Amino acid sequence: MSTALLYHAFGLKAYKYLRAEYLNGAIFFHVKKKEAYQYCTNCRSRDVTFAGRTERIWHSLPIGLKPTIIVGHLHRLSCHSCGLSRLESLEVADPRKGYTRLFCRYVVEMAKQMTKAAIAAKLKFVGWNTIKAIIKADLQKRLKQRRIGQVRLIAIDEISVKKGQRYLTNVVDLETGQVIYTTEGRDTECLRPFFLKVKCSGRANLKAIAVDMSSAYLKAIELYAPPGVKIIHDRYHLVANMNRVLDEVRRDEYRRKSGPEKAVMRGSRYLLLSAFENIYDDEEKFTRLEALLTLNETIHKAYLLKEDLRLFWEQDSRDEAEQFIRIWLKETRSLGNSRLDAMANMIENHLEGILNYYDYPITTGPLEGINNKIKVLKRAAYGFRDMEYFKLRILFIRDASFTLVGA
Ligand SMILES: [Zn+2]
Repeated sequence: MSTALLYHAFGLKAYKYLRAEYLNGAIFFHVKKKEAYQYCTNCRSRDVTFAGRTERIWHSLPIGLKPTIIVGHLHRLSCHSCGLSRLESLEVADPRKGYTRLFCRYVVEMAKQMTKAAIAAKLKFVGWNTIKAIIKADLQKRLKQRRIGQVRLIAIDEISVKKGQRYLTNVVDLETGQVIYTTEGRDTECLRPFFLKVKCSGRANLKAIAVDMSSAYLKAIELYAPPGVKIIHDRYHLVANMNRVLDEVRRDEYRRKSGPEKAVMRGSRYLLLSAFENIYDDEEKFTRLEALLTLNETIHKAYLLKEDLRLFWEQDSRDEAEQFIRIWLKETRSLGNSRLDAMANMIENHLEGILNYYDYPITTGPLEGINNKIKVLKRAAYGFRDMEYFKLRILFIRDASFTLVGA
């Protein structure tokens, strides 16, 4: 093999091809550095003398289906400039790595298009831990190049990753859809490093945060976020809360009733919680809903409040929205139902953040999609044993083409 081919196929410059061996289905290329290119790896001096030799191997790009391994016949060189004795470098691999940089690129490219199983099958001879280490190093490098200082609008939310026992808190940049921070836990302190990073970036530009009404995150924003940042309590959590309350009202009523009334109420959860426009076109569902609402006044009123609340986000201005919600609160409280009263109190206590939607119309909505993708990641990997890798994968989860899974 010519020197030129070694360079073009494997990136090896200044090497001499010695021989090839075929062992256990793999190709071994023996190479040796030309003497004219020898230098000290410590100080780069060329004033060196030969002080012994050794062999090292590196995984390189496969040829066809055959794994290819470079066997470097390396010289130990003692340097007259710095006095040290060092092994010469192969140039194409990072120190202490058993694979070349080309091989790394090959794995990273594969990881963008193939599943864990497909890569593992293709690179059996390397082992999953090595492959994972290469992907991890690549993700970490790309992560370092990210700047979160300019982030303007974010959403914060939690996701349960182990049946309600283990939580991750994720922060999404709402302008790019990228997860920019992920950490274990869901308490106040878990957001502290994130806000520190934002503040330390020198030109913090953070304007608004979409977040639910959980007091831990609110406390973190109060304590650690740059001053003046607006909080937006988004409609997803509010609507979900209202639906929960409506369902509680339904169950209270169900328990209280008997006989034919109970029969009408049975299985009505879906009807009540669905948006009205999704029921309206279906005659059977519409008839059942109508029967239920005619039968039970409390459920009827709670249902109308639920539907009404959705109009809060359709108002023309912040002022109109405020008027709207004040009327809604009054109507809700006039019913004297403790569950609905609790909902009204919650809204009133967080009114500023709810109204802020009219200054920054952002929501935690994008996190929902991301959370679904995280769940897919987790399922495909049968749970993540390597938390660090899992978190790295989450930080790149927007990259739709990046479909590799595994732990
Ligand atoms: Zn030297």
